[in-house]
Amino acid sequence: MSSEEIIDKLLNGEMKLYQVDNEVSAKEAADIRRKFLEKKYSIKLDNISNYSLDMQRASARNIENSIGVLQLPMGIAGPLKINGQFCKREVFVPLATSEGALVASINRGASTITASGGVNARVISDIMTRAPVIKCGSAIESLEIKQWFIDNFTELKEVAESTTSHGKLLKIDPILIAGSYVYPRFVYSTGDSMGMNMVTIATEKILDKLSSETNGRHIALSGNVCVDKKAAAINIIEGRGKSVVADILIPEDIVLKKLKTTAEAIEEVNIAKNLIGSAVAGSTAYNAHYANMVAAIFLATGQDAAHVVEGSLGITTAENRDGDLYFSVNLPDLPVATVGGGTSLEVANEGLNILGVAGSNKAREFAEIVASTVLAGELSLVGALAAGHLARAHKELGRG
Ligand code: NAP
Repeated sequence: MSSEEIIDKLLNGEMKLYQVDNEVSAKEAADIRRKFLEKKYSIKLDNISNYSLDMQRASARNIENSIGVLQLPMGIAGPLKINGQFCKREVFVPLATSEGALVASINRGASTITASGGVNARVISDIMTRAPVIKCGSAIESLEIKQWFIDNFTELKEVAESTTSHGKLLKIDPILIAGSYVYPRFVYSTGDSMGMNMVTIATEKILDKLSSETNGRHIALSGNVCVDKKAAAINIIEGRGKSVVADILIPEDIVLKKLKTTAEAIEEVNIAKNLIGSAVAGSTAYNAHYANMVAAIFLATGQDAAHVVEGSLGITTAENRDGDLYFSVNLPDLPVATVGGGTSLEVANEGLNILGVAGSNKAREFAEIVASTVLAGELSLVGALAAGHLARAHKELGRG
């Protein structure tokens, strides 16, 4: 069938979009679907048609019904000096965003950090979770199923780990109950992959065993206690992905010179805005804008963009220590990878290469870099707000 014939069939509804893949190569299928849209809506799609990635490969792993590639501007911030456990060097951070001033602001934070000797960063925990929902006949039966998971842990661990060479089942905890529903949270380590596919496959195998040995009936592989791609207290308390902390002590003269403010003003803004303001709003993210830095790095390095909602969680602290500024960011829920998922896309791989973290044995180093960049951006914004606060205070005092 020629391209024109396929487009006509798409237009008159004789062929479905996904069926184009059965007729031609993935690249040609993308061209045909795009031309179908151009014809149907009388529009031009010249820009999403320009790309260098291997559409055949992407169509096999990353996308269905492809029509082209999204381009976003990418900038760089740095040098950013990191004193991590895994990352002990200066980095330049690739950031993909359409928000003007974001890269400049992160760059200012990076400059402040580097002038102060670097940011300390540590990975506190490193897990990925899957929590299905199992239906029982009563609360008593739910408790029996909970006990079945506890009693059979060693065997269930073997079953799960038979599906993967990198994944390890660490624990099943907590196992929550709501009447006749049971929610066991399976906690894995997943190496350098983000791990959602890996833990899904492993957990499915455990559920097969559950079905054959108990009366528990699994209703959904995810019962929303995982909690994947949603903000949740359990992720903040128990952690998910990499839990990372980064902190720094910035000398008074550098706070003044680089941020044009004082530790006292930054502390006050942080308390009033990030802590009290977030509490007043009932927010679960006690920070100014982690999502900005997390989103820009995730897009530049092929992370699962929907996980920005998890990466946006966390608490910023700021203390005036005799004029010096102690500042920390705490990210309990940062799902990141240097292997698998979107990280193998050509553009993403280039982003990871700028950071020197593509491939195996790099995920924790990458997590330290993300947290350090979050600190740079957070410091810059809270610093800017504090500078404004200080300027207003001076003005008012001047008037008085
Ligand atoms: P994946 O690309 O499916 O799997 C990565 C695989 O790489 C692992 O399973 C592992 O194989 C192998 N691998 C090679 N070297 C490794 C290393 N050093 N460390 C760890 N693994 C290594 O990716 P995934 O991380 O499991 O899942 C990510 C994808 O899941 C993303 O595309 C994301 O969008 C998607 N996702 C899925 C769900 C879901 O519910 N299924 C939810 C959210 C997101 P072995 O297992 O054989 O060791």
